[in-house]
Amino acid sequence: MKILIAKTAGFCMGVRRAVEMVLEAPDKHEGPICTYGPLIHNPQVLGLLEEKGITVCDRIPASGHGTVLIRAHGVPPQAKEGLREAGFQVIDATCPRVIRVQTIIRKHAAKGYASIIIGDRDHPEVVGLKGYAGDNGHVAATLEELQQLPRFEQAIIVAQTTQNTRLYDAIKTWASANRPHYKIYDTICDSTEKRQAEVQCLASQVDAVVVVGGKESGNTQRLYEVARNSGKPAFHVETEEELDLDDLGQFRQIGVTAGASTPNWQIKKVCRALESAPYRRVVGWRRTLYRLQRGLLLTNIYVALGAGGLSYAAMHLQGLRHFLPHGLVAILYVLSMHLLNHLTGGDADRYNDPGRAQFYKRYKWPLAFMAIAGGAGGLGIAMGAGLLPFGLLLVMSLLGLSYNLHILPPFLSGGRYGRIKDIPGSKTFLIAAAWGLVTTVMPALSETGRLGPDTLAVLAWTSSLVFARTVFFDLLDMQGDRLVGRETLPIVLGQKRAMDLLKISLVLLVALPAITSAIGLSTGLGFFLVIIPMALLTVIVAHEQGKILPGARLEFLAESHFILAGFIGFLWSLIVTGKP
Ligand code: SF4
Repeated sequence: MKILIAKTAGFCMGVRRAVEMVLEAPDKHEGPICTYGPLIHNPQVLGLLEEKGITVCDRIPASGHGTVLIRAHGVPPQAKEGLREAGFQVIDATCPRVIRVQTIIRKHAAKGYASIIIGDRDHPEVVGLKGYAGDNGHVAATLEELQQLPRFEQAIIVAQTTQNTRLYDAIKTWASANRPHYKIYDTICDSTEKRQAEVQCLASQVDAVVVVGGKESGNTQRLYEVARNSGKPAFHVETEEELDLDDLGQFRQIGVTAGASTPNWQIKKVCRALESAPYRRVVGWRRTLYRLQRGLLLTNIYVALGAGGLSYAAMHLQGLRHFLPHGLVAILYVLSMHLLNHLTGGDADRYNDPGRAQFYKRYKWPLAFMAIAGGAGGLGIAMGAGLLPFGLLLVMSLLGLSYNLHILPPFLSGGRYGRIKDIPGSKTFLIAAAWGLVTTVMPALSETGRLGPDTLAVLAWTSSLVFARTVFFDLLDMQGDRLVGRETLPIVLGQKRAMDLLKISLVLLVALPAITSAIGLSTGLGFFLVIIPMALLTVIVAHEQGKILPGARLEFLAESHFILAGFIGFLWSLIVTGKP
């Protein structure tokens, strides 16, 4: 089955901005913090906000204290005033595009115009907009309702920002012909327009469309309407549990889109479930292969094999032999650290990859045994290689073990940076450094006892490649990481800058091994390893263009690059030296 995902699926600018403002609120504003009405229609997000002490306030109390955030839909001005009078500090997270419509209505209401809002009467945005119209605000959900309204002397027509563009076009045509003196404003948000246009185009390319998002969410309902009107089978689901996978497994191509308040991890969960749909029907090698692929990823065995592949390539770049002990150390160290990281700090997995979170909960003890045995095995082999490699691996293992632990007491850390994990961007840099040391520096130290420019050049290549891989996975997990307060590099830099940095790093990485080979700092293998960053860049661009979905396949492809590096190293060695 081929799954195409809409580029516009997921949080729009206004919702993302509101979510970020709410998550930052405990650090910036006086507590307790609450939102006026649920921030988005997603019980998991609301549950997590509650865990962080951010509650939902549904009505204005007689008196209160702390901070109230107004969500992206906005509220009537009277509600804002009422909250202030009750004693709250009010932080306005209303989307700037909704504020524009509120301003249009407020200005015209002051001049005596009637305001006609085309939208759903009970939708919070419409309730808020009507509040700006004073006594002369009217709501029409359909053309018929508009036709039944009295003919006003002067009036404006605006649309709810998530209104169906076709309906609004029909309304504009009718109003221009029958109420030419009305002022009509184009207030449908371009994010909504693009989303609806894309789902129409997507529907023409696929056999069925799945729309992900809250059943209460107006813009998700409209996407579903557009998908259904395309004539293709359309399904509106809030979670992956509502998918009829046996039924959906029949389709060859499925399009996935999502409403503006649907978090990325919700879309990912649906995509993962769809990805597995064809394998429910087929038995045999394809199903076994899929399970094997997922199993290797969940247990981190595949990523550990990747460390072995990278170690093999790094050793041959440096002209070193005796891969076995060093490769085994790299495999066991990476396996142990990645398992421990998921076992002790997997809170973000609940959102980014709930299947993984469940797997780690279910097989906690066998996985913990694997992690400890792997770590001990790696240290044992390193000891055989010498005191220096053993000491280096021990320090790296202790650093890895303490990554999720509170090292500094709150009075020294200010309550924020008590763990290494709390240092912004630390995960990305530490993983890259640890992989670089274990795959490149340790074999060099064991074999030659020195650290020359050749080793440093290869270290720059291996650690930068792992850096790029980690930034890419962090980019995929941004929303879940942000919710649990993880400050990964993409969160610190922002999505666009992190993506630019990733692409620039990969372009530079294409040149690095070839240059080091050309100037004699590494063996001729460097000329062939240019393929690795090029291939990773291709996967990233294909993902950006929606050609590869987030899920097991993408993860498997991204992790395969290090194994490919090892394979290229193996072929090169066999051809050039006649030995593996
Ligand atoms: S759909 Fe548009 S107007 Fe509505 S919150 Fe999102 S960006 Fe703002």
